Amino acid sequence: MHWGYLPRMHSTVPDTRVRTLRDDRPSGDRDFVLYWMTSARRLSWNFALERALEWAVELDKPLVILEPLRAAYRWASARHHQSIIDGMGDSARRLENTAVTYIPYVEASPGEGRGLLSVLAGRAACVIADESPAFFLPNMLVAARRAVSCRMEAVDSVGLLPLSVPQRTFSAAYHFRRFLHKELSGHLGTSPSPTPLLGVALRPLQMELPAAVIERWPAAVLTSNRAGRPVLERLASLPIDHTVGVVNWVGGETEARTRLREFLTADLDRYAEDRNHPDLCAPSGLSPALHYGHISAHEIFHEVADREGWTPARISPPHDGRRRGWWGMSASAEAFVDQLVTWRELGHGYCHYEPDYRSYESLPAWAIQTLEDHAGDPRPWTYTREQIEAASTHDEIWNAAQRQLVEEGVIHNYLRMLWGKKILEWSAHPREALETMVDLNNRYAIDGRDPNSWSGITWVMGRFDRGWPERAVFGKVRSMSSDSTRRKVRLDRYLRRWGEQPDLV
Ligand SMILES: Cc1cc2nc3c(=O)[nH]c(=O)nc-3n(C[C@H](O)[C@H](O)[C@H](O)COP(=O)(O)OP(=O)(O)OC[C@H]3O[C@@H](n4cnc5c(N)ncnc54)[C@H](O)[C@@H]3O)c2cc1C
Repeated sequence: MHWGYLPRMHSTVPDTRVRTLRDDRPSGDRDFVLYWMTSARRLSWNFALERALEWAVELDKPLVILEPLRAAYRWASARHHQSIIDGMGDSARRLENTAVTYIPYVEASPGEGRGLLSVLAGRAACVIADESPAFFLPNMLVAARRAVSCRMEAVDSVGLLPLSVPQRTFSAAYHFRRFLHKELSGHLGTSPSPTPLLGVALRPLQMELPAAVIERWPAAVLTSNRAGRPVLERLASLPIDHTVGVVNWVGGETEARTRLREFLTADLDRYAEDRNHPDLCAPSGLSPALHYGHISAHEIFHEVADREGWTPARISPPHDGRRRGWWGMSASAEAFVDQLVTWRELGHGYCHYEPDYRSYESLPAWAIQTLEDHAGDPRPWTYTREQIEAASTHDEIWNAAQRQLVEEGVIHNYLRMLWGKKILEWSAHPREALETMVDLNNRYAIDGRDPNSWSGITWVMGRFDRGWPERAVFGKVRSMSSDSTRRKVRLDRYLRRWGEQPDLV
């Protein structure tokens, strides 16, 4: 970081998490510090918020949080919008009676929000933004840097290991785990604050924003329905995909924390044994909350560690990349932390360092070679994109998973792997399979459009994996079969819920 002539502010946010996008001196004659909240959409365990608060205190300025939601991104739908609006309602409630000015902003038409950041930044001493490695967010930061005329920093609250540390991607979870074993201990002591707003004496914003700004970019007006769920009245009129409807899963920090507590109490102990069985339902279901930034990986890790009575002194060398035994936690907690930290951060790191993470060409060379070698193999079944989307295949288990995805916005973890592998098997070419998976996953899944969307989907096609015995269509890429899934996992109840329903057909 180049501080130049700036006095170095005392900060609890590690340098490794701060990327200076504009190295200007924070302007003392501006009105406030602006936190542009675009991916860590929460008010606790958030390094970016912490950093913005530090600047506000240092400069003795009010803090304004702008949380925008665009209309014109691919896969924008009522489903994704409602999840983010849930979070906005939660944050608005939590910020009532605080000195923070919170502006939730939902675009009414594509491009309507253009200019808002720049106008607000014109009055800001500095702008703090969220670092986020995938989808349109990295490009949005690049554009924002040009639109802003003051100091600007992007702060990384993504995972336990700062994104800036590895300086490379990893070809397999094992290699990343080895890296984590050597590096992670040094970062475990620096978590974001659970209560960054507590005890901070902030100057409230005394001025009104100019009427022209309020008129052109009115803050979202949120009410609640009878169940207390935040409602944006004009959601139905927004130019987004309304065929992908709202689901029961409720977004926001408060709900995410409740889900975490329920998981820790009811399911964590069974995680190692039961998580692959759809009928036993032991995974956390936290990926949407992580995706929308409504909960932090730090908080989840902290709660698991607390429950285990764990301290870093329990880490047990050698630091050799083994899957079990390194953390010194119970088998279930270790299995869960391996998903939360190793697998999740493997995917985020990949997207951070590899701008081409979405393309077929970004797959490992061995995977492309073997998929191309087998691209001409006769497929026992091929389906069109429409048949796939409508869950009209011969495969009962697969159809059930697809129905769950469309209706609930989630797929059980284990079946999600099968879901992807079958799309690869049934598509005319692996390129087409990649497009179908990306489109369906990101359209319907409430954790979609995440770095792990692309890492999970490209895992289906060989990324982060090794070669397996060669077979038709898949070549050396790992295959999965519905028959062995039926033998291996318990899914009678799941099929009763999501299987064919003759009376409805
Ligand atoms: C085809 C395919 C598509 C996928 N699309 C997505 C997606 O859009 N968004 C998404 O977040 N994940 C995706 N994954 C990864 C994984 O399936 C989900 O993260 C997991 O199912 C989330 O359920 P959970 O929160 O109950 O997980 P848990 O088992 O409770 O795990 C806890 C957390 O660890 C992380 N995690 C778990 N499994 C994985 C994994 N295999 N890779 C990376 N991180 C993981 C998630 O953040 C998860 O919330 C995909 C995987 C596949 C095979």
